[in-house]
Amino acid sequence: MSKKLLSRRQVLAGAAVASAALSLPRSSEAAQKAKQAEPSPPASTATKPAGPVTLPPLPYAKDALAPAISANTLSFHYGKHHQAYVDKTRELVAGTDLATKPLEDIVRAAATDPARVTLFNNAAQAWNHGFYWKSLAPSGGGAPTGALLDKVKRDFGSVDDLKKQLVEAAVSQFGSGWAWLVLDADKLKVIKTANAETPLVKSLKPLLTVDVWEHAYYLDYQNRRKDHVQAVVDKLLHWGFAATNLA
Ligand code: MN
Repeated sequence: MSKKLLSRRQVLAGAAVASAALSLPRSSEAAQKAKQAEPSPPASTATKPAGPVTLPPLPYAKDALAPAISANTLSFHYGKHHQAYVDKTRELVAGTDLATKPLEDIVRAAATDPARVTLFNNAAQAWNHGFYWKSLAPSGGGAPTGALLDKVKRDFGSVDDLKKQLVEAAVSQFGSGWAWLVLDADKLKVIKTANAETPLVKSLKPLLTVDVWEHAYYLDYQNRRKDHVQAVVDKLLHWGFAATNLA
């Protein structure tokens, strides 16, 4: 780390402590909060390159989605499959103009380059999986609220109708792929994509996704894809994440 960056970090940490001291009682709790407010060095450095692509942290424990998705499935899915897509992407962009680009840029660049099909497949899968983990939550399911709920009622009739369309899209995707809730201009739609195909490179805004590659469910459900998808839709979908993407 350069002296310049260290200095900036120290200034920020000092400011956080000073701010906490003004607004909080002098206690170990205040000291703890001030410590938590200190920015982590990599995130606070504007000069750090965006790449290379890394495996994003799983937003919950590996057993947090059970029983709908077991810890065993999550361990392989995240630790092996997602990791492999990230590793392959890094390997393929190493030494190229995309080496330090954000994952989204790599996916978009590869999508329009016939010579980079393998890179697209791996980078898009890396991105889709990062989006998928955030589409699920340990206490998910239920129904959207607020502006998202209004749009769901307008475009699908009801939350149940939307859920039925999502399950139908996921179950009817022939072979590997994904089911998505997307925003198309101002209209909500359910779509399905094959293999690594992703709405990220279309003029669609992804809000939620469900992975229907066999590796997403085979350890827990074998061939019963519909049982898996129904459990995901009923117990795990993170409507708050979808609402954030809508905003
Ligand atoms: Mn997957």
